[in-house]
Amino acid sequence: MKLCRFDTDRLGLVLGDMVADVSAVLDDLPAWRWVPPPGDALIAALPDLRPRIQALAETAPRLPLAGLRLAAPVAAPSKVIGAPVNYHDHLDEAQADADLHHGQTVHPIDRMGCFLKATSALAGHGAVIALPFDDRRVDHEAEVAVVIGRTAHKVPAEAALAHVAGYALALDMTVRGPQERSLRKSCDGFAVLGPWLVTADEIADPGAIGFELTVNGTARQASDTRYLIRSIPELIEMVSAFYTLHPGDVIMTGTPAGVAPVAPGDVVVVTSPALGRLEVSIG
Ligand code: MN
Repeated sequence: MKLCRFDTDRLGLVLGDMVADVSAVLDDLPAWRWVPPPGDALIAALPDLRPRIQALAETAPRLPLAGLRLAAPVAAPSKVIGAPVNYHDHLDEAQADADLHHGQTVHPIDRMGCFLKATSALAGHGAVIALPFDDRRVDHEAEVAVVIGRTAHKVPAEAALAHVAGYALALDMTVRGPQERSLRKSCDGFAVLGPWLVTADEIADPGAIGFELTVNGTARQASDTRYLIRSIPELIEMVSAFYTLHPGDVIMTGTPAGVAPVAPGDVVVVTSPALGRLEVSIG
């Protein structure tokens, strides 16, 4: 199942080049007064809602996918987690390039652990990402993202994939510089997720998701989750040892070699046979 969010928080089921508007299922979500429970209510309820989504799609209005601007498919994660330096080829380039490490020693993920990106940085397919400074380098980082499906606390790697709702492409946009990652990677629009959520049942092997990134049609990054230093199950074990993962929480699993600056007017596209095509432009 491929689920997208379009227009003003409408829910769509992607069917080829069309989107079935299955927003009526949102009426089945619990209604809360302040304060809602942590995490994304739709992702939390998804296992129960799937039959109704499929049924609604039979008769729901259908819109052409082309031209729809999509929001991030997860509306309200409690956390967006980033994995620094989780591909060997990116470790090599980061250690070799002073513009990437800024005099700091770059360590692989086992030493660094993970970081957090502000949830206010979320953006979706078709977004225009504003560069926040005239004089700071901003890089693209193409990544595969994992969306947590149910509460996970101290989950061993062997049990981790049972806690996954699905997968999406991501851009972990980054201001280069000496500050903390959480600051530099949390500007508005810097956590791009999409184009839609591909539910876990459609991904035969999350350890073999290929993806690539182009800027203005020129290839810049290409890799596969098989080359992750810490695999998706290992990442879930690592971070859930520190904090509870709630439904909808997003783990951006790291970027391979080829990170490079973007400029106003650039069109950045991440594609994956399994996850679709995610495009943004730089404003
Ligand atoms: Mn990254």
